[in-house]
Amino acid sequence: MDFLSKKARAIAPYTAGEQLRDRTYIKLNTNENPYPPSPAAAQALRTFPAQELRRYPRPDADDLRAAIALAEGVSPENVFCGNGSDEVLALSFPAFFDGEGAGACFADLTYSFYEVFAAFFGIPKKIVPLKADFTMDLAAMRAQDCQGYYIANPNAPTGVGIGRAQMEEFVASVPEKIVILDEAYMDFFGESCVPLTKKYANVLVVRTFSKSYSLAGMRCGYAVGSAALIAGLLRMKDCFNSYPVDAVAQAVCRAAIGDRPYYEGVIARVKAERERLQAALRGMGFTVPESRANFLFAGRGAVGGRQVYEGLKAQGVLVRHWDGPLLNDFVRITVGTPEENTILLEKLQNILS
Ligand code: PMP
Repeated sequence: MDFLSKKARAIAPYTAGEQLRDRTYIKLNTNENPYPPSPAAAQALRTFPAQELRRYPRPDADDLRAAIALAEGVSPENVFCGNGSDEVLALSFPAFFDGEGAGACFADLTYSFYEVFAAFFGIPKKIVPLKADFTMDLAAMRAQDCQGYYIANPNAPTGVGIGRAQMEEFVASVPEKIVILDEAYMDFFGESCVPLTKKYANVLVVRTFSKSYSLAGMRCGYAVGSAALIAGLLRMKDCFNSYPVDAVAQAVCRAAIGDRPYYEGVIARVKAERERLQAALRGMGFTVPESRANFLFAGRGAVGGRQVYEGLKAQGVLVRHWDGPLLNDFVRITVGTPEENTILLEKLQNILS
């Protein structure tokens, strides 16, 4: 630990899901899409001219921003692109929150990176417990003294979603506070709040190519909001990395977002499998909150999440488990292909019997 700053010594970093290479796993632990990227995206990758890599990419990913703007029904000045939505979320902390301010408010059980970013940027946090049914307590959040909010919708790791009408009511009730809506899994729900960004100056929606677009390996995410909010993110980007989205990612993601019909098909297949898996897990005695995402949060009291996780791992299926008071009983299972899900259910049955 020699030479490390106090912050580097003290901070508890985010732990990403396992990417094991020791054997072939059915990998249902990081909410990746089981289907390939669109043929148009694959074509953009294959035909990318290598000589262009000599040059730096477009610093603000202008062509990609224009394609995203077209798809989202906004203007390019309303779009910001980053190296994964994690980076977009990271930059939003210093862009919109002060170290000496009232802090960023989020749920106790939500995307755990928010807590890491708050610590990294020295921003106070206000934690509000989920309700017993795993829904977000928006009334309690509204009552918090804070500079703004991070709301994952659908939430992770629970999969629980908040409809657009309810979200609008919340956003309208806190006009002085910024509301950052993390819509990483929104395509599997279909209640995006991007339309609210045109009506409310305090809404920033963050989305990603990693999940519904099957491009986690490309590392690209984006934010949609007022031109003023986007300008704030651009200021922070240019304090950190002028070229966060590489040239290949810009080209591939542009092709992907232009191929919505392909992805509508993929999303429909994942949703159909989610419903099948959810019903099967409940049939096996698991508690599963209604999921609007591409994963299920499943717990079976007496068995324990760690035992389920380890039992599945030993049988070649990776799911995600965390230790913690709210998490001990549960595992988070990404929806795979029908074949993968069937194997998962068989292996689960082995553990239970
Ligand atoms: N938000 C949520 C809720 C997530 O689960 C993830 C994936 N770990 C992200 C954001 C970040 O995804 P990415 O950086 O791949 O866009």
